[in-house]
Amino acid sequence: MRLPFVSRYDLEQTQRGFLAADERAAKLSAEATEAEKEIRQWKAKYNDRCVDWEQERARYDDQLESLRHELAASRAMVPAEPLTDEDKQRLLASKCVSCGGSHSIACPRVKRMRFRADGQTPVEVEFFPDDQWPKSRVVFLEDLP
Ligand SMILES: [Zn+2]
Repeated sequence: MRLPFVSRYDLEQTQRGFLAADERAAKLSAEATEAEKEIRQWKAKYNDRCVDWEQERARYDDQLESLRHELAASRAMVPAEPLTDEDKQRLLASKCVSCGGSHSIACPRVKRMRFRADGQTPVEVEFFPDDQWPKSRVVFLEDLP
C-alpha cells in the first residue's frame, strides 16, 4: 500500500496529535481510577450509615414499645369509675412516702437508696430532680375523678 505524500510539518503535527491524545488518555485513566476510589469510599460510608440508621431505628422501636407498655399500664391503673371513699382510703394507705403517689413498680422518683444492715430500712435516699422522673406509672389521688 502506498502512503500519500506527507510533509515533515504534517508528520510533526500528527505526532503532536498522537502525543496530546496519549496525554488525554492518561489523564482520563487517572481520573477514572480516582472516581472508582471515590465510589468505593462512598459505598463504604453509605453502608456504614445504613447500619447506623438501622441500629437507631431499632433503638427508637424499643423506646416506642416500652412507652406503649407504660401507657397501657398507666391506663389500666386509672379506674374509669369515680373512686369510692373506700378506694380513696386504700390509695391513701398505699401512698408512697417518696413521691406521694401510688404505683405498682419501684418508686420512679428514687434514684438511689442505701439500706441499713437489716436490708429493710433505708438509711439514705437520693431522688431524681422533680422534673426528671417519669410520672406516667404513678397515680396521684388528686388527679383521679
Ligand atoms: Zn413513689
